[in-house]
Amino acid sequence: MTPAIVWLRRDLRLRDNAALSAAALRGGPVVPVFIWDPQGEGAWAPGASSRAWLHHSLVALEASLRERGSRLVVARGASAHVLEGLARELGAGAVYWNRRYEPGAAVLEGIVNAALERRGVDARGFCSALLFEPPAVLNRQGGPFQVFTPFWRHCLQLPVPPPVALPAGAFGPRVRKWPRSLECSDLDLLPKAGRDPIPSGGWSPGEKGASRRLRRFVAGGLKRYGRDRDRPGRDGTSLLSPHLHFGEIGPRQAWAAVKALSADTGVFPRDPEAATFLREIGWREFAHHLLFHFPTTPSIPLRPGFSRFPWAEDKGHAMLRAWQEGRTGYPIVDAGMRQLQESGWMHNRVRMVAASFLVKHLRISWIHGARWFWNTLVDADLANNTLGWQWSAGCGADAAPYFRIFAPVKQGMRWDPEGDYVRRWVPELGPLPTRFLHAPWEAPESVLASAGVGLGTGYPRPIVDHGAARAAALGAFRSLRGNTHP
Ligand SMILES: Cc1cc2nc3c(=O)[nH]c(=O)nc-3n(C[C@H](O)[C@H](O)[C@H](O)COP(=O)(O)OP(=O)(O)OC[C@H]3O[C@@H](n4cnc5c(N)ncnc54)[C@H](O)[C@@H]3O)c2cc1C
Repeated sequence: MTPAIVWLRRDLRLRDNAALSAAALRGGPVVPVFIWDPQGEGAWAPGASSRAWLHHSLVALEASLRERGSRLVVARGASAHVLEGLARELGAGAVYWNRRYEPGAAVLEGIVNAALERRGVDARGFCSALLFEPPAVLNRQGGPFQVFTPFWRHCLQLPVPPPVALPAGAFGPRVRKWPRSLECSDLDLLPKAGRDPIPSGGWSPGEKGASRRLRRFVAGGLKRYGRDRDRPGRDGTSLLSPHLHFGEIGPRQAWAAVKALSADTGVFPRDPEAATFLREIGWREFAHHLLFHFPTTPSIPLRPGFSRFPWAEDKGHAMLRAWQEGRTGYPIVDAGMRQLQESGWMHNRVRMVAASFLVKHLRISWIHGARWFWNTLVDADLANNTLGWQWSAGCGADAAPYFRIFAPVKQGMRWDPEGDYVRRWVPELGPLPTRFLHAPWEAPESVLASAGVGLGTGYPRPIVDHGAARAAALGAFRSLRGNTHP
């Protein structure tokens, strides 16, 4: 049997990898290949933190393959060109991959498919990145769902395919001669200057780290998920997002792990903690389906009326920079932005508050925020990031209503009532009594002095007044009249 190439991209795992299993079942040698092709991603090539994660993940994948007597062939260049060359060199009869649903990636798959089929190679994509293929989940009119609740209700009626097993002896027959490969380090993915967010965030990229994270969460954190998931000072969520983004674990594996646990009680999916967690996997699914159906949304609002929104002037990007650097003077926003800088991740509740602050308090376009997150998040994901930003700005599918403007002080007091989160990421405010922690400007001079907090020197005063900013934002939204709900 001729060799089969498995083109690995955002499916950096061996288990529940439909393309890899299909290649193994052919019976010939299996050659796993990763190609670094940033141009193939269009305008959204991976940002700095994603590149760092990718480096560590590839190193882990290569080690796992070697443990099984196989290898990872690492190449750089235009994907179709590299795959054609490898297929010719190996005499490969098949090239398999798992489909992606971002616009650039989908176009690339078309190009690869055409180039390989011209050469008579069996070129095929499989579904491993989502619970369901987007064209298979449509509303009664045959169109895409644009509201989450009916989308998810519909999904819950569909059988979720179980994870795909890797056949025994998957890497059995050996290829006669392995093609030349680059080292992972040749791809220059790690930051040349500045912090590598992977060790500083305490992350473990790779399939083993992902499986450990899922196991630990299902055995422990899941029981408290409903209660703790909105508390940024607690370890209350799964932290699976970068693992899911890079496909070190698949959503069907997460689904099966939660289902196996809940099956003991016979209440799945009515067990509230399991159902709440799976609903978040559902938001991921919704985001990817939306991006598939509305491929321009990473840069264009889904609601067209919103493109006339009157953004504020931000001379020299001073306000944007203060937000990026965690110097807005609003502690919950600053804590989030600093957590992002240091660990490459930010808690979901704080992402919503920080995004709302940029768009509504500062009236700076959500595109600037989306770009910043894209470069700094280790879980930067075009579908989830686009949904999150358009939701926060009020211009996307099922978005927050325009008049919902998160009050950063109230949000801080509600979700970080003991101040653990702010104290961790904004340590200069640490000695302040908790009741002033989320609004230090309200503390009397004597309290600030005895806590050693210098407002305007050690920690900034608020860069905008909440009440005035809120009124200006509401006015700007109302100016879109005719499209009141933009
Ligand atoms: C402005 C903004 C930008 C965002 N950008 C991204 C991004 O680039 N990448 C990303 O993965 N998530 C993004 N999110 C969604 C969410 O914040 C993260 O998925 C979540 O914080 C990841 O932490 P976790 O794995 O512990 O989540 P958990 O609460 O444990 O959830 C489990 C999984 O469900 C998915 N999920 C959870 N919440 C959402 C959501 N709101 N939308 C889509 N999927 C979700 C994620 O894959 C996550 O890993 C963004 C949210 C906002 C408001």
